[in-house]
Amino acid sequence: MLILVFALAGGRNVCAADNLQSFVTQLFASKGGGVILSISRTRRIMAVVNPQLAIKEAHRPGSTAKIVTSAAVLDGGTADPDPIVSSEHFELEYPLSQQTWVKRTLETLERWRRELGTNAETLPSRVRVETFNTTEGFVRATGEPGWMAASSDGFSISLQPLALLARKQILDQTLRHELTHLVVHRVRVKGVPRWFEEGCVLYLTRERIDAPTNEQTSTVELEAAVAKPGSEAQMRAAYAQALERVRRFAQRQGDAALWRALMHPDPGDLHWFQE
Ligand SMILES: [Zn+2]
Repeated sequence: MLILVFALAGGRNVCAADNLQSFVTQLFASKGGGVILSISRTRRIMAVVNPQLAIKEAHRPGSTAKIVTSAAVLDGGTADPDPIVSSEHFELEYPLSQQTWVKRTLETLERWRRELGTNAETLPSRVRVETFNTTEGFVRATGEPGWMAASSDGFSISLQPLALLARKQILDQTLRHELTHLVVHRVRVKGVPRWFEEGCVLYLTRERIDAPTNEQTSTVELEAAVAKPGSEAQMRAAYAQALERVRRFAQRQGDAALWRALMHPDPGDLHWFQE
């Protein structure tokens, strides 16, 4: 069975949308498979052949529905969109230069999602992940500084080039970190500072931060440094301090109290956040 997912690059392809459905219907009329035609960036589905079959197959656990990037078929060879490949709970958009690391990335995300247990239930059913050819591409797409390994917006995850993360031996750690962020971010209520989210993520992923903990920083300064660090060194120092504070909190009250404080902070927690 043939399942094709065309991910178009958008732009001037879109104006051809009216003709796409009849085009793909005709094209696949005599074949048994399914087609999903979508715009790469927006995920808007432009045309579908055998939709139930195609969507079911593309979303099947462990499915590696064949991803075809040849928008060229429809667009005179100018478009060069990124392929998208899906696992049970993730879809990864990646440039071909990063292909080597795609399988490991999806496997690591699935594994860590399982380890998050019931906490992962707050995640969207399919988390979007994207990576880039270059650090410049990552910076352009996310607005983050180039020394950031990844970022998430509460719904999806953007990663520096997978090959770069792998070379620095931080690929698995970065994936765990960002996925945990998604979970923690989604349960964190108003009034709970970002540094507490960051500290919880670092604590739950058992990361080690290579930086001195400078206890002189106030929680106001800590919050500012976590929200918008001026440099990698400042970020590391802030993360180390956030982790240390969360670690002490967990020592005193137990790990379950971290989740309680994120979701339902009591007056004591709210006071401690400002201390
Ligand atoms: Zn983080």
